[in-house]
Amino acid sequence: MAKHIFVTGGVVSSLGKGLTSASIGMLLEHRGLRVRLQKFDPYINVDPGTMSPYQHGEVYVLDDGAETDLDLGHYERFTNAPLSRDCNFTTGKIYLSVIEKERRGDYLGRTVQVIPHVTDEIKKAVSCLAGADVDVVITEIGGTVGDIEGLPFLEAIRQYALDVGKTNCLYIHLTLIPYLKAAGEAKTKPTQHSVGQLRQIGIQPDILICRTERGMTKEMAEKIALFCNVETRAVIEERDKEFSIYEVPVSLVENKLDELIVEKLGLKAQPLNIADWHSMIHRLRNPASEITIAVVGKYIRHNDAYKSIYESLDHAGIAANTRVIIRKIEGEDIESEGTERQLDGVDGVLVPGGFGYRGIPGKIAAIRYARENAIPFFGICLGLQCAVIEFANNVLGLEDANTTEIDKNCRHPVVCLLNEQYSITDKGGTMRLGSYPCQLANGSLSQKMYGAELVHERHRHRYEFNNQFRQEFEKKGMRFSGTSPDGNLVEIVEIPSHPWFLAVQCHPEFKSKPTKAHPLFLGFIEAGKARHEKNRSPNLRNW
Ligand code: GLN
Repeated sequence: MAKHIFVTGGVVSSLGKGLTSASIGMLLEHRGLRVRLQKFDPYINVDPGTMSPYQHGEVYVLDDGAETDLDLGHYERFTNAPLSRDCNFTTGKIYLSVIEKERRGDYLGRTVQVIPHVTDEIKKAVSCLAGADVDVVITEIGGTVGDIEGLPFLEAIRQYALDVGKTNCLYIHLTLIPYLKAAGEAKTKPTQHSVGQLRQIGIQPDILICRTERGMTKEMAEKIALFCNVETRAVIEERDKEFSIYEVPVSLVENKLDELIVEKLGLKAQPLNIADWHSMIHRLRNPASEITIAVVGKYIRHNDAYKSIYESLDHAGIAANTRVIIRKIEGEDIESEGTERQLDGVDGVLVPGGFGYRGIPGKIAAIRYARENAIPFFGICLGLQCAVIEFANNVLGLEDANTTEIDKNCRHPVVCLLNEQYSITDKGGTMRLGSYPCQLANGSLSQKMYGAELVHERHRHRYEFNNQFRQEFEKKGMRFSGTSPDGNLVEIVEIPSHPWFLAVQCHPEFKSKPTKAHPLFLGFIEAGKARHEKNRSPNLRNW
């Protein structure tokens, strides 16, 4: 029977519950256990797909097309646990299902209530991951203890231990120990209060993980243990990691978290072996070179909006033994200040996915600059669509070429809506979502990078390259190197005469890991590195 770990958070939001849960998953996997991870988000949107990246950060897409919270990205980067739409539930999704059942008459005339109907639905969401092939299910509860909207989730996980037995459940609470400069002291009171609130609901945490800026003394751990009714050895320090998030699991091991979990849940686990993780961190800390990549986007000022893109660039840097410095540029700043000023000295340009008009002219200008100056270019989703528009405008000389997302009536709609999208009016979950196959052309750059003929990548878009223009583009030197297996949908474009110009309709950033960089990101970073080296050795160039 699978065991359960419930991760809650207190004191403040943004404590890193997602990273901590992912780290716990990673450590248990490295002890030979089969884990599953899931997240509950206490907001009413059915999924984050309809939310602005400013509100929510990146929308992380799974193979099955689920649009999920970005913490699932951490789960996937840290572990090999398979993820599906059962791994992310919001209040909206839970209520939608309860209300659908009520409308169908499934409740047979009973009054439908938060307890037991909503809490039962939440418990069902937990137990559906606890299959026979699973040792541990890790469930992260979003939000902070004390939030009104989180209450049904906390109530449900409290009941869960009653249903399956307390010995099969472990409650881990993540808190903050703030350091007050004026007092010159770290304070434990907020932790005491947040555990107090949990206990009021009926949950006694088994382990406390304490985020600290400056470390925790033995006396502090003892005090927290006493006030919170937790063993002193179960008060674990998690110090801020300024260098890399990938160091979090290592620091948790130093504080024996994996041993504690294995012991408390009575798991049959192997000794821990994280040699692969240590060697990844060693490479990350000791790069042989340094390159600069420009990411030209629209939500650049929001740290989490392009999370997986930034992580994938780092992963490729680890594999290529180079530090990747990311220059984050707003498309609009290129419009006002010019490409030269913003892109001077970069070794590669990446244009990520996005929606809407703002910043598009700047992105297109950046692509033109990369194409004309032989700077490696990587376009992703909207990045491909912009690359196609740029090529139509400046190489094909097609006046007023655009995507119909921006200008419905443009003269040359080189990117337009898919047929099946025309009649759709609902916004939630209606894009082309999830994993689709892509056939790679023989001898293409993409085929070389992937080392395969057929690949599968995740999608999240409505618009497509307009096939009417294919021949015209091909004649002028753009290659359609990846298509859907029936040849109908353009998935990848390249310019073979350019050192490295590649754009994809999919989102490869959702399939990159720190220990296994995505081949396209790696190829892009290697190309950036080659350009950097060539530019750095003018003598060699002259020879
Ligand atoms: N807005 C574009 C479309 O819907 C691109 C989407 C994206 O970049 N994810 O097709």
